[in-house]
Amino acid sequence: MAEKSFKYVILGGGVSAGYAARAFAKHGAKPGEVAIISKEAVAPYERPALSKAYLFPEGTARLPGFHVCVGSGGERLLPEWYTEKGISLILSTEIVKADLASKTLTSAAGEIFKYQTLIIATGSTVLRLTDFGTPGADAKNIFYLREIDEADALVAAIKAKKNGSKAVVVGGGYIGLELSAALRLNNIDVSMVFPEPWCMPRLFTAGIAAFYEGYYTNKGVNVINGALVVGFETNENGEVKNVKLKDGRVLEADIVVVGVGAKPLTQLFKGQIEEDKGGIKTDAFFKTSVPDVYAVGDVATFPMKMYGDIRRVEHVDHARKSAEQAVEAIYASEEGKSVGEYDYLPFFYSRSFDLSWQFYGDNVGESVVFGDSSPASPSHKFGAYWVKDGKVVGAFLESGSPEENKALAKVAKVQPPADNLDKLATEGLTFASKI
Ligand code: FAD
Repeated sequence: MAEKSFKYVILGGGVSAGYAARAFAKHGAKPGEVAIISKEAVAPYERPALSKAYLFPEGTARLPGFHVCVGSGGERLLPEWYTEKGISLILSTEIVKADLASKTLTSAAGEIFKYQTLIIATGSTVLRLTDFGTPGADAKNIFYLREIDEADALVAAIKAKKNGSKAVVVGGGYIGLELSAALRLNNIDVSMVFPEPWCMPRLFTAGIAAFYEGYYTNKGVNVINGALVVGFETNENGEVKNVKLKDGRVLEADIVVVGVGAKPLTQLFKGQIEEDKGGIKTDAFFKTSVPDVYAVGDVATFPMKMYGDIRRVEHVDHARKSAEQAVEAIYASEEGKSVGEYDYLPFFYSRSFDLSWQFYGDNVGESVVFGDSSPASPSHKFGAYWVKDGKVVGAFLESGSPEENKALAKVAKVQPPADNLDKLATEGLTFASKI
């Protein structure tokens, strides 16, 4: 089979890939130099839309509406944009072998791609209950959500629902919370089940989670915490019928959606590249241990300058920024110049129902909630700070205005001193606005 050769290959066609392509174009990459190779059938898009407006019954988002870079207020890169820029968009092409020594990628169909510089942007894949051996986890109508074809399958199941359809969402992280809301908006009876004592435990404190659980309950979602799913029962067509919990409870379900986490897609490179914390280890320029190979987005384990450690971050803001940093660094190294080290301020967000939260910084140390965190509150504006070694290191806000969110980001960046948690709670947003 014919071999194709590119100066720069971006492996993966998700968020990082799209932002990297834009950065290449900005740097004046010549037609024919850049290729994106993606397993997906569509040009890079803003993945977070899949668990939000993609599933809404009204105001539904569909491609081409949410191709990158609209999620950060940038230009929408339609498939034609790639053609105009001479960037090869090689879609529906899964790479099954990567030989970093010979700079060769091989697709499932046997095509060979050569590169001078590679950006690994393979992202993550969902953890499946079948991986854990949960009995019945291969039943029909059990869905996962990472890529657009999976979102389409879920949309079809939602459309096929009858009156009184029941869904069980397994997992209480941001995917579980967003999917529960989306299913509820589609008028489906939803139970959200997770084993932890409260939802979003990796970020939320018990106080923050109490608001969301109360709010969801008021919206008709049956929130079941501290409960482990141990199996599924099916009907005669092999479709899921019941979800069995460890404590003996059984939940009826026509649709099950599982959001129990993700793992970075690094296996193509195993044994060829240095890894750390489950990801591909990079420096502050997203350069890996292998010359001319960069890794960005969910797969990269990189130095978190602010905190003096190394981390992997599975969030869209980092996917965008790491891709841009890598392309800057590639051009700088070619031109014998240098770029500043990546100095990332962690930023996560989520939206569901009429809620919208943002978080900046690090959620370590002691925390304090401020504002009105009653689930029944009409404003539902409240927040939290995390304080470590006498400094505010993390800040969270529900229903903040753009200015308030900006102030929050500044707090997390500046890390102002705060020794009195009670005072911080009383001051609330005023504290942030003074920084
Ligand atoms: P991805 O965007 O996942 O792209 C990886 C690409 O690589 C995919 O196109 C994949 O098909 C391709 N690929 C992988 N392996 C191969 C191969 N062998 N051959 C060819 N192609 C391959 N983050 C937030 O901060 N806020 C949110 O609200 C939010 N919502 C989300 C909702 C959903 C449903 C999901 C799944 C994620 C969400 N995220 C959110 C996380 C965010 O989308 C990811 O962190 C981001 O997409 C990571 O970008 P990436 O480029 O590293 O990976």
